[in-house]
Amino acid sequence: MFSETQENHREQTSQRQEQHSCTVRQKKSFPLCVYKTHSLWRCRFCSSSPPEDERKPRASMLRHLTSKIKATGPIPVAEYMRESLTNPVTGYYVRGDVLGPQGDFITSPEISQIFGELVGVWCISEWMGAGRPAQLQLVELGPGRGSLAADVLRVFGQLRSVLAEASVSVHLVEVSPALSRVQARRLTGEQSREADGEDEPVYRRGRTTTGGLPVSWYRRLDDVPAGFSVYVAHEFFDALPIHKFQRTEKGWREVMVDIEPDEPERLRFVVAPTPTLASSTLVQADEKRNHVEVCPEGGVIIQQLANRISESGGAALIADYGHDGTKTDTFRGFKGHQLHDVLASPGLADLTADVDFSYLRRMAGEGVACLGPVTQRTFLKNMGIDTRLQVLLRSCSDPATRKQLIQSYDMLTSPSKMGERFHFFSLLSPSRLAEPKRTEGLKMEKKSPAQLPVAGFTELSFS
Ligand code: SAH
Repeated sequence: MFSETQENHREQTSQRQEQHSCTVRQKKSFPLCVYKTHSLWRCRFCSSSPPEDERKPRASMLRHLTSKIKATGPIPVAEYMRESLTNPVTGYYVRGDVLGPQGDFITSPEISQIFGELVGVWCISEWMGAGRPAQLQLVELGPGRGSLAADVLRVFGQLRSVLAEASVSVHLVEVSPALSRVQARRLTGEQSREADGEDEPVYRRGRTTTGGLPVSWYRRLDDVPAGFSVYVAHEFFDALPIHKFQRTEKGWREVMVDIEPDEPERLRFVVAPTPTLASSTLVQADEKRNHVEVCPEGGVIIQQLANRISESGGAALIADYGHDGTKTDTFRGFKGHQLHDVLASPGLADLTADVDFSYLRRMAGEGVACLGPVTQRTFLKNMGIDTRLQVLLRSCSDPATRKQLIQSYDMLTSPSKMGERFHFFSLLSPSRLAEPKRTEGLKMEKKSPAQLPVAGFTELSFS
């Protein structure tokens, strides 16, 4: 369907190729493989110690948190996570390119071009399923190094004849100015410009190097203009702050972060003695687990997506590791190839928690239809990853590259690697799923995904 070319941007190809010579190992306490790919590459779940000169700003993050706790008392885990990851001065993401050769972890779009290409096909198939509207906004939340967007846009370029007269634009929601620069270089070359004022909703603008499509950067989804959009969020929701709650004899109590009494440089978890606003409002009345994690920021973003889709049309594709309301304590840090104490190095370590898809579905409400979660393996196979791999292999005679293509395919789809740990979840306009003769009054959520012509959740079809 699209061309046999392997992506030909050299830097990325060579980086991706290095990844395929990876070894995989399982961690007992965290049953997800770690993909060691190149001495400089780290997967999402491990990271390296930063160079010495990067330690100082991080120490100031610890100081910042301890002064805050001294002033106001223990802080919620969500506040700890938000500060550690996205504090505008010393946050983990804000400091720069945490992915890639100089970074700390690696994600599916960085492992293989095929991942983003299939997401690109999904975007087009949803645009077609919506009746080929005149406008198509590609909106990505948390675009990292811009690899996923670049691969999606390459597919858009290859299927230009299908997109025909549609006006296509790209909208990136990114909190890290440093990562936005990496994305800008990747997508626009040198053709982007920062906004003059700090408060501008669009803080950077540019045009893609191929095709000249307009690209805009925002700090918040709310700032993206209304209009038919396909939203993509890969490993975005797991980075949003979670609250943690513990069932006690006195009822639900929030887990907070405090200073270790005898060691002013160390942090510890404590359980709040009395209910907090969060523990009173965020735990479900019929909750059966003894410990729960809730990500209200993720809930707000899902509601925004749902409102936007029901008002202007479109679809959202959310891919992440997660569960369906069954897991308890999933908050973890990674540093130096190891699971890392989440409280040990705020701002220096990756912090993450599994996405609760049942919570996202609940927060999406009745105005949209939800599909999934389905495993990454199911999604990619339904999208035709096997065929795409064969096409690439046919056009490639270099044995090393062939081996790398096969290894990255295995990494993305193998049940013991990323294939079953990662899940895909979608929000759609209910009209997208309506049966031709009955367009009203359907309870979409109750329909079996197997009957629905939505690519990835069932086999890809362009008919
Ligand atoms: N999607 C990419 C990167 C995942 S890392 C990939 O899969 O390779 C998470 C990304 O989300 C980073 O780009 C980070 O800077 C961004 N991010 C984290 N929290 C954010 C927030 N609250 N708002 C916007 N972007 C955020």
